[in-house]
Order: sequence, then C-alpha cells, then structure tokens
Amino acid sequence: MSFDNKVVLVTGASRGIGRAVAHEFAQAGARVAIHYHHNRTAAEETLSTLSGGPHKIFQADQGRPADARDLVEAVIELMGGIDILVNNAGIFEEHRLADVGYEQWLSAWEHTLAVNLLGPANITFWAARHMIENGGGRIVNISSRGAFRGEPDGPAYGASKAGLNAMSQSLAKALAPHNIFVCVVAPGWVDTDMAAESLAGPGGEAVRAQSPLGRVAYPQEVAQTVLFLASEGTDFLTGCIVDVNGASYLRS
Ligand code: NDP
Repeated sequence: MSFDNKVVLVTGASRGIGRAVAHEFAQAGARVAIHYHHNRTAAEETLSTLSGGPHKIFQADQGRPADARDLVEAVIELMGGIDILVNNAGIFEEHRLADVGYEQWLSAWEHTLAVNLLGPANITFWAARHMIENGGGRIVNISSRGAFRGEPDGPAYGASKAGLNAMSQSLAKALAPHNIFVCVVAPGWVDTDMAAESLAGPGGEAVRAQSPLGRVAYPQEVAQTVLFLASEGTDFLTGCIVDVNGASYLRS
C-alpha cells in the first residue's frame, strides 16, 4: 500500500493505537497530522519516530465542539489538505451503575459521549466538507468490541462506540456520492495505556484468555487494518465494521 502525497489526520496519535497508525502511514509514504489532547511530550515522541514527512503536531480537545473546526482548519492550512481522517482518540471512564452516585453517572455519560461520539462527529463534519470540495477522501473510525459485547463497567463507553458505528454507516451512505468512503475498525483489548491497568491487574490473565490466541492485540495489528481500509481499491467496503479481536467475540 502506498500513501505517497496523502495527508492523514490521526486523532489521538500521541500514544497507543493512534501512534501505531501514524507510524504505519508514515512508513507507507503519507504525511501525518499528529493530534493529541494533553500529552505534548508523547506527541513529540511520536513525531520523532516517524519516517518521511514533513509531519506536524496539532492540539485539540475533541470534547469541545469549537476545537473540531479549529483542528481541521489548522491541518488544512499547514499541511495543504486532508485526504484521510482517522478518528481514533477516545476515553474509557468506569461508572458501574450499582456503585456510583448520580452526579458521577451524569458526568461519565456527558464526558464519554462528548469525546467518543460528538468529537468524531464534529471533526468528521469539517473534514468531510473539505473532502467534498476536494473530490473525495477516506474516513476510518476506531470503535470497539464493547459496542456489541456490552460494557458493564462503562455503559456510556459501549453506547458511544455503538453510536460511532451507526454514525459511520449513515455517513457511508451519505458521503459515497461525494467519493468519500467511511469504515470502522472495532478492536477487542489492545496493549495500550487504556488497557494497561486491567492487563497488569489480577484479571489480566482472564482478559488475555478471552482470545484463543491467549493475548491481546498489538497496536500495529489495528493500525494495519486501518491502512487497508484507507487504501485505494477498497471503495466497496464502505460502511463496513471490521473486528480486530482475536476471535474473542464472534458475530455473524
Ligand atoms: P490511549 O488511552 O492509549 O490514548 C488515547 C488517545 O486519545 C491519546 O492520544 C489522548 O491524547 C487522546 N485523547 C484522550 N482524550 C482526548 C480528548 N478529550 N480530546 C482529544 N484527544 C483525546 O488509547 P488507545 O490507543 O488504547 O485507544 C485508541 C482508540 O481505540 C480509542 O477510541 C479506544 O476507545 C479504542 N479502543 C481501545 C481498546 C484498548 O483495549 N486499548 C479496545 C477497543 C477500542 P493525550 O495523549 O494527549 O492524552
């Protein structure tokens, strides 16, 4: 796969899956807009490991609607456009219904939906409007196995990812006439900061045992799937949701 002369905006590229996605795109010839929220140092580490370029770093809180527009406009201005958008950034906040008070429940729902669902929706709005003017583009959204399997400790997370799936499929239909193709990758557990505490804790073995491979995914495995879905020749996959969960949860 070659992404020569393509500009890719990867949200949450300072760490984890987003960093691996940035890495794989850079190796395949793309110029990467590395987005982060708080962790500038980590974003700079990502930048320092990328081949090719020039790549650039961008800060935004995707839980704030105004930031979505500013982010996309800054990338277009400084990098000359956006060919591919990867909505990867996301959060997981625990809020077990039986254990939390109403204030915490409300806050977890509001924050999770703002970051995981409204953020990608708003970034997609501005990026897709640019892609329409530009004659096309590709969007890959990072959802989660939790959208299908349930998230008992974080129901807002499961709902946000189910919403992201539904949004992606609606936009696949809406944007195909504009030559914009929208796909989703739904990982199971992945070895990143988000999963680190669970993997290191007493339940870690049980988490690994969910897959018959006896492990969780490497971020690169998710990244390679993203690149495939963003590559030329995959137009007819638009609207798909690809599981990367090591057969830990099968659906047909
Ligand atoms: P990490 O926790 O390792 O990294 C999260 C990234 O999102 C960071 O780059 C962080 O920026 C950014 N981010 C966090 N909050 C915001 C915000 N408010 N605005 C903008 N950016 C923000 O996550 P992963 O790499 O593990 O996860 C990436 C995606 O994959 C997420 O959408 C997640 O839901 C999904 N996923 C992860 C799984 C896993 O097991 N790890 C399983 C299934 C899906 P900064 O570094 O600046 O804080």
